[in-house]
Amino acid sequence: MATRVVPQKIIKNLRFKTTTKPLNSSHPSATAAVASLLEREQPSPPQPSHQQPSYLDLNDGERLFSAVPTSTLIRSSAVLHATAIGPVVDVGIWAMQSKLLQTGILKDAVMAVTKRTFYEHFCAGEDAITAGKSIRSVNEAGLRGMLVFGVEDAHENDGCDRNLKGFLHTVDVSKSLPPSSVSFVIVKITAICPMALLERISDLLRWQQKDPSFNLPWKQDSLPIFSESSPLYQTTKKPEPLTPQEESDFQLANQRLQQLCKKCVEANMPILVDAEHTTVQPAIDYFTYSSAIMHNKDDNPIVFGTIQTYLKDAKERLFLATKAAEKIGIPMGFKLVRGAYMSTESTLAESFGSKSPIHDTIKDTHNCFNDCSSYLLEKFANGKGSVVLATHNIESGKLAAAKAYEIGIGKVNHKLEFAQLCGMSDALSFGLSKAGFRVSKYMPFGPVEMVMPYLLRRAEENRGLLAASGFDRQLIRRELGRRLKAAIF
Ligand SMILES: Cc1cc2nc3c(=O)[nH]c(=O)nc-3n(C[C@H](O)[C@H](O)[C@H](O)COP(=O)(O)OP(=O)(O)OC[C@H]3O[C@@H](n4cnc5c(N)ncnc54)[C@H](O)[C@@H]3O)c2cc1C
Repeated sequence: MATRVVPQKIIKNLRFKTTTKPLNSSHPSATAAVASLLEREQPSPPQPSHQQPSYLDLNDGERLFSAVPTSTLIRSSAVLHATAIGPVVDVGIWAMQSKLLQTGILKDAVMAVTKRTFYEHFCAGEDAITAGKSIRSVNEAGLRGMLVFGVEDAHENDGCDRNLKGFLHTVDVSKSLPPSSVSFVIVKITAICPMALLERISDLLRWQQKDPSFNLPWKQDSLPIFSESSPLYQTTKKPEPLTPQEESDFQLANQRLQQLCKKCVEANMPILVDAEHTTVQPAIDYFTYSSAIMHNKDDNPIVFGTIQTYLKDAKERLFLATKAAEKIGIPMGFKLVRGAYMSTESTLAESFGSKSPIHDTIKDTHNCFNDCSSYLLEKFANGKGSVVLATHNIESGKLAAAKAYEIGIGKVNHKLEFAQLCGMSDALSFGLSKAGFRVSKYMPFGPVEMVMPYLLRRAEENRGLLAASGFDRQLIRRELGRRLKAAIF
């Protein structure tokens, strides 16, 4: 969907205001937005940024990083530069994974180096209390924090129970922090429901999508999880119903999630469910949507789901879920991401002899993210619901900021939050915040060993000189140079 262009005069006046004002109340109806979202079969390429009106100044490093101490900038610069050098990342990943380095003095040394570098850059601390301190400090710099208890997937009920305690504690910590400094508590359903059970539930849901007469006695009200084009290749034959043991485990998992949701409702703290790979995502969506129906009231979504826009069926599923939420009158919250499991998805699809569920080109993914974002902004501007745009992509940030200004959604009505990972795209975070938007950093916490898989993903994501972090590297280097000159002269 093309973004309408706002006259330069208005843009100039609005640039860098700390509050957003509605620019134009006569935006197209949601129906028109939906129609154009779905009609768009041949998405046009995103316009080059020089043709877009710019609502964000991402070039003035002095202004963007004014709240960041020089010592932090130096560490950020060093870590981002290190992750940009392929061989350094390879050695780092080898060291973090190597069995040789899993015991004794070598292990202590690797852990110590990892902690002082990658860990301190990408994570919020070893426990919820330290993470709380990190959140206070990002909050002083004008941002908010998403508290992420960095647990692993669970395979047994005992592990799920332990993880639940950690999530509940996270909500307690968030209550002890300055009001509104924590935007969300993040939950991974894979940490409170055994993985094998999530796979079974996903299989059963997929089979019901193939055969609507297939009865799932345990299934409660939910929003649509699939669309007509959703790939169902992972379920090749009719699955057996849940065994009594599985039904009991399913009830336990549901009780854990409801306990957490209730605590979040009491604390008025939104809970955001992360998305994982498609093997388990139908079950995750099921848990999310059925909880949203129970807990999202009035204009205030408490339970938010995540849509991965690298999936070809993302737009249709988002459309169906928002329409269904509208019909039953609940406010729905969505986080939009591109998606983090590209290679797993492609390999899995190939093993079934199916086409990858991921868009054929990255341009299609970019268009899908931008279209879904535009659709939700229009839909929620005057309707019920909230959107979190979780991206480091500057073009997507600019497009969404322009759209938000255009239709008057943003800081004023709290229906839009931008989000970036801790340690990534700080320039975009500060730029959006200084332009008047709410912006959160996704802040995982936990012992170094526990968050190691997360750190490995971040190292991979920033690998290579052309990685997305290139923009930040340049800007930080320039700002450090400026501070050095100012100190000398
Ligand atoms: C706050 C926050 C929360 C997140 N939560 C989740 C989550 O719950 N679940 C999840 O899966 N991910 C999550 N992510 C990660 C996210 O999905 C992305 O992996 C990451 O943010 C990079 O995408 P980007 O929007 O920042 O865009 P960019 O920096 O532009 O990254 C684009 C990347 O998209 C990938 N890509 C997508 N489609 C294609 C394609 N068709 N062809 C080639 N490459 C393609 C490539 O790897 C490319 O590097 C989260 C990210 C943030 C910031």
